[in-house]
Amino acid sequence: MIKNAEKQLNKIRKKLSRKGLDAVKVSMFRESVQLKGSVDSWEQKVQAGQSSAGHGFKGVLNDILVSGCDEPGMSQPQLEDDLLEGRSFDVVIVGGGVIGCAIARELCRLELTVAVLEKEADLAMQASGRNDGMIHPGFAAKPGSLKSHYNTRGNRLYTNLAEELGFNFTRPGTIILFKDWWMRFLLPPIFKKRCRDNGVDGDYRTLSQKEVKKHEPNVTKRQKGGFLLPSTGIVSPFQVTIALAENAVANGAEVFLNTLVCSVFLDEGRVSSIETNRGRLRAGVLINAAGVWSDKLAEMADDRFFSIHGRKGTDAILDRNSEGEQNHILGMPSFSSNKKNHSKGGGLVLCVEGNILLGPTAEEVSDREDYSTDSEMFTTLLEQLEMNTKLSPSMIINYYSGVRAASWEEDFIVEPSDKVANLVHAAAIQSPGFASAPAIAVDVASMAVDILRTSGVDIVPRDDFNPVHHGIPQVKNMNAADRDTLIKRDPAYGEILCRCEEVSRGEIRDALHSAVPAATVDGIKRRVRAGAGRCHGGFCLPKVILTMAREMNVPIIDITRKGSGSNILVAETKISALEVSDAS
Ligand SMILES: Cc1cc2nc3c(=O)[nH]c(=O)nc-3n(C[C@H](O)[C@H](O)[C@H](O)COP(=O)(O)OP(=O)(O)OC[C@H]3O[C@@H](n4cnc5c(N)ncnc54)[C@H](O)[C@@H]3O)c2cc1C
Repeated sequence: MIKNAEKQLNKIRKKLSRKGLDAVKVSMFRESVQLKGSVDSWEQKVQAGQSSAGHGFKGVLNDILVSGCDEPGMSQPQLEDDLLEGRSFDVVIVGGGVIGCAIARELCRLELTVAVLEKEADLAMQASGRNDGMIHPGFAAKPGSLKSHYNTRGNRLYTNLAEELGFNFTRPGTIILFKDWWMRFLLPPIFKKRCRDNGVDGDYRTLSQKEVKKHEPNVTKRQKGGFLLPSTGIVSPFQVTIALAENAVANGAEVFLNTLVCSVFLDEGRVSSIETNRGRLRAGVLINAAGVWSDKLAEMADDRFFSIHGRKGTDAILDRNSEGEQNHILGMPSFSSNKKNHSKGGGLVLCVEGNILLGPTAEEVSDREDYSTDSEMFTTLLEQLEMNTKLSPSMIINYYSGVRAASWEEDFIVEPSDKVANLVHAAAIQSPGFASAPAIAVDVASMAVDILRTSGVDIVPRDDFNPVHHGIPQVKNMNAADRDTLIKRDPAYGEILCRCEEVSRGEIRDALHSAVPAATVDGIKRRVRAGAGRCHGGFCLPKVILTMAREMNVPIIDITRKGSGSNILVAETKISALEVSDAS
């Protein structure tokens, strides 16, 4: 029961009234606050949601309508078949992002049948493939929050995870720059306390102006010192998500792409079956790792207690010629981050491939799959270039946006359902969700196991669980001798199709035949980086398409950029492209 519920509801009503939001009706739904009525703008809906959080309720259900503003629905696969009809799994995970894939891998340590259902044509198509790949040190989260707990634990787990799964991982650390003298004196004690409270690892410390310059020779002259957080790591988010999923598959899990969960059926307070576009299946436990749609999945299972709003972030990618111009991630203290935009402040973020990202921004959006980029965001991003004197706007080669799954409480939801006996939520996982994923996965897997055990399932460790994953060889990163040996063994690794990123035909072929095979041009880019360089596929795209058509044994016209409806070629002309390629 909520303490003094009516008193708290009145407090919320008063707050809303002070903001001119008297039209919003405030009531209780189960243990959550529910907001209804209509307002004139999305900003007002956001204001109402934010004002209603933190009053002791389980969650905020923000059902306010915004005049003239539709909240677009989710993109859906066009495929329909009965592949999953009648199948049954111990655990079904909804969502093929980093959270769903990490949970699947954890569960594969046991003799259980596990399925991951993902509506998109590939893994990591939503937040998990549209972020900065920063393994945050655990500094920014509010002490005592789940974000803080999982971030610090997750950060630690990355060292071992990278060794096991073979993804690229380094810890360049972050320097938060002080741009005014007063910051140099006032901020360090606050920052140190925050680090202690959150259990941040490493020798975090204050740096003088000179020390910053020594660590970062190209840093702006305007800096007056800084704060070093050495435990910040960086990864390629696609590489991590795909490695987790492929290792899970190697250990018995099944991944179903283009698979949308449309309805969840309950029987006596338990999930009895799950309806998808590929048939109806059964699950001993259902795990909600559905990202920006996790509130809708909870609603399908009649466990509505939170609502998600999308917070878009845009990043700009700098060319590889930015490599070596910076040693750490650079940021500025962000004082507007708390109530208003909840961003981690953004900055100059190193990529594990060596180049630099500018970003991310933070903007509340009504469309949870709004991946557009605009000039306003671009202007905000350019300001960050000031931190490094060697970087310039001409180095920018591309942009992308992602949408964070924010709840109104601004914390993760990682818990078994109160209402449905065999449902577990790993929901509202916004930043630092990537950094937190390995730790969230350990706990969610253990919650699922408890439920299975209670239902009488024998929990037996898998004797042959193999935590090691060998990724696709990266020709570009090999020394000459290893490259030579590899090419002698298989000449396909000597045929470079993507010149910018030095990706060979052998690597692209491997990506098409891996445990969770790439089936789209973007899927190839995510796995091996063909098309991710300066020319963005200008030169290699035709060759990638041809290789895909041959290896997948489909007509070139059927090759898509990111799944059905995104075909790249419309028709064959006089000579088939395959013939052209053979002749050239
Ligand atoms: C711009 C930006 C920058 C960020 N930077 C960082 C960072 O540097 N470090 C960090 O730690 N975190 C960062 N984050 C946050 C991080 O990306 C997320 O916390 C994390 O990726 C969330 O993973 P997820 O698996 O919960 O969600 P997602 O990756 O969104 O996966 C959920 C999946 O569920 C699928 N799905 C939804 N509904 C259904 C359904 N009904 N049926 C089938 N499938 C369904 C979706 O298609 C989606 O693929 C950033 C986020 C953004 C947007």
